[in-house]
Amino acid sequence: MKLTFLGAAGEVTGSQHLIESDRLRLLLDCGLFQGRRAEARNKNEKFFCTPKSLDGVVLSHAHIDHCGNLPGLYKAGYRGPIFCTEATADIAEIMLEDSAGIQQEDARYLKKHGTHGGPSPEPLYTEDDVRGCCKLFEPIGYHEWHELSPDLKVRLHDAGHILGSSIVELDLRDGTERKRVVFTGDLGRRHTPLLRDPEFVEACDVLISESTYGDHVHPPVEDIKHDLIRIFKEANTLGGRVIIPAFSLGRTQHILYFLNELVNIGQLPRIPVFVDSPLSKKLTNVFRHYSHIMDAEAQEQSRSDVDLFGFPGLVFLGSQAESTQLNHRKGAFVVIAASGMCENGRVRHHLMHAIGDENNTIVIIGYQAQYTLGRRLVERQPRVRIFDRDFPVRAKIEVLNGLSAHADADDFRWWFEHLSQQGGADHTFLVHGEPKSSQSLASVIHDYCNSDPIIPERMQSFEV
Ligand SMILES: [Zn+2]
Repeated sequence: MKLTFLGAAGEVTGSQHLIESDRLRLLLDCGLFQGRRAEARNKNEKFFCTPKSLDGVVLSHAHIDHCGNLPGLYKAGYRGPIFCTEATADIAEIMLEDSAGIQQEDARYLKKHGTHGGPSPEPLYTEDDVRGCCKLFEPIGYHEWHELSPDLKVRLHDAGHILGSSIVELDLRDGTERKRVVFTGDLGRRHTPLLRDPEFVEACDVLISESTYGDHVHPPVEDIKHDLIRIFKEANTLGGRVIIPAFSLGRTQHILYFLNELVNIGQLPRIPVFVDSPLSKKLTNVFRHYSHIMDAEAQEQSRSDVDLFGFPGLVFLGSQAESTQLNHRKGAFVVIAASGMCENGRVRHHLMHAIGDENNTIVIIGYQAQYTLGRRLVERQPRVRIFDRDFPVRAKIEVLNGLSAHADADDFRWWFEHLSQQGGADHTFLVHGEPKSSQSLASVIHDYCNSDPIIPERMQSFEV
């Protein structure tokens, strides 16, 4: 059996791994590379997996860096099945439509303003490619073995990373023997609200594990609710605005879930809350549909509360006009808007109108990559640029760090320790991490692996 790491090897985007036995060619994930435009374009445009001859794709979850290039694969001629959970199929469809829309907008902008010698302004794929690709989704349930052919069985476990996320387990025939391959996708944390803890797997021949936060220990989740109460009370007293930049998938629903819980127990002052993102609205509706795959606490709550993501005073905004009206609104209110790193989307308009007033608060709830506006806010730089204008940062900046969707070093140790008690993995490959994180994780889990973990480079192949 041969493994080739085609993406998310030595970096955290573009998840794509090829498995070839003497009978089958399978792709695990087909994500978009994100980053500098020319480099990302180059990596996203070319497929090294010969799409037409693939027998199947298994998708771990619906984040764009894992599913975002499936329409590109379709455009390149792939017409086979894409196996994933039902929730992943529903979320991926919405995410991919959005991705095609963003690419179209970018292309329009670049055609108008010129590419300055950069890569083609054409979108990587269109809405038609998204529609075609989504017809290939074949949802399968968690925990059961699904015999897809005499040569291949697939079983999905909950990865606890985002709604519908899975750890993929393959049992495939290779020559005269059968091999067990486990792919973590992105592994979640323990005790995350809404989501079940990452599930354990049995011994395997090959393990491909993510390593994003192999060098981190996250703060506990519980702190956030106390912080939210304090921030809402302050805003209520001062009559200020609270701007929460949040990714539409995951973070937005987590915040709404917390706020709903705090409203239910009467701990939150009544301030209007606006979710200003059509994408967040669509995704929150999917979440409402899938409470049966959430953790025990959320399921328990859903028995007494018909809407875990809705409460009096919450409004989802649709049109741009509704969004703009908030600029002139008086008194305390809260806006949750994308993007999570403040690099694009409606949140930039809200920041522009809030940042210069000390009565306002900006709440950063996720990781902020270098060189993003979000990072500059976290660093509390005295002035920032938004839409080519300089603004003094007078609003308070609150950084709430407890909501990472990725396992940290302690979570990994816990998960790998259990795996080793089951017999462990004969070969472990660490992907989806900056080299420093992957190396840290390698030392954290070393004692629980049957052989030294390998950190593959992009395009590197291994016979196992
Ligand atoms: Zn992910």
